Amino acid sequence: MILPKSNRLTTEQLQEVTAIVTEFGCKIQPIVGAVRSIYAIVGDERDELMINRLEGLAYVERIDRIQSPFKLMDKRSDLASHRINLGGVTLGEELFVIAGVCTIDPKNPNYFYESAAAIKEAGANMLRGGVWKPRTNPYSFQGDVKSLDILMEGSRRTGLPVDTEVMEEGHIKLALDAGVTALQVGARNALNYSLLRAIGRAIAERDTAVLLKRSIHMGPINEFISAAEYIAAFGNPNVILCPRGTAPTLDGYRNHPDESITPLLKEKTWAPVVVDPSHSVGKAAYVPACALAAVAYGADGLCIESHVSPSHGIGDDPKQALTPEVLADTIAQAKQLWAIRRGVKVV
Ligand code: PEP
Ligand code: MN
Repeated sequence: MILPKSNRLTTEQLQEVTAIVTEFGCKIQPIVGAVRSIYAIVGDERDELMINRLEGLAYVERIDRIQSPFKLMDKRSDLASHRINLGGVTLGEELFVIAGVCTIDPKNPNYFYESAAAIKEAGANMLRGGVWKPRTNPYSFQGDVKSLDILMEGSRRTGLPVDTEVMEEGHIKLALDAGVTALQVGARNALNYSLLRAIGRAIAERDTAVLLKRSIHMGPINEFISAAEYIAAFGNPNVILCPRGTAPTLDGYRNHPDESITPLLKEKTWAPVVVDPSHSVGKAAYVPACALAAVAYGADGLCIESHVSPSHGIGDDPKQALTPEVLADTIAQAKQLWAIRRGVKVV
């Protein structure tokens, strides 16, 4: 990682450093910040000759040589001070809550609009709604592109930014063109490196964020953070890690709730952690407790399924969506707990 003395390199300076690293088979990936830009050396950056030449440039402050499998997402990276702001909320500064239906019903959009209004009222910061759905059974409803308009209409009506899952390259462009603020990578695709690359490439020049779910097939923590690195390597590091339950399942829950993973992640990465208690436990009655546990363990936010009438939902909602009333209570309690955890006295 190259840290320039000034806020950013000039075009000529960038050309010069690019020429040097190219000689050693590496590339430069600028990470453009609002105030300061830094320049990742992509490739094997261990060549001392290359480092010496870069360090010798008058406009280079220093070369950051952390040895990490994820040099951008690593807590020791210069990106550690990077903050993700979504819809006016800076993650880490207040509890960030994403809420919404599992799957938007294109035939009954009013369920989504009513849910969206109630979810905003309940205190959520971002609206979620599945347009395209990864379903275990090929005959189950797979989603419908028409739901993208419904999602964006929900966003307009509430003023909330939106998050939706993309499963293939074609979805990315559609979602970005529509104005989606956060692209969700589902648990099934979190190890799909070509999709991660396609997302990284597509959002490189934007301030779009990615909500990266944890795959149930991910073992060590490093695998999760490396998946985030795949996206960040293209220049936009706005990746949020989302634990959502893992395998093997804890009998009675949908998955094995992994809300206690946050401190382990925080030891290694600066990335914000937004926990999904809904898919972790899979049963509405258990979701509030899992949400609070996640906050107690240090989560920066929550992603919760909620529907005005869960039994009318067409995805996971009948089983795991909270009603807006329960969502409101859960958010209020989670915010109190978040404040206690941060050492702020709540009255
Ligand atoms: C979802 O968010 O509705 C979903 C399918 O989640 P996951 O990828 O975690 O299973
Ligand atoms: Mn779901």
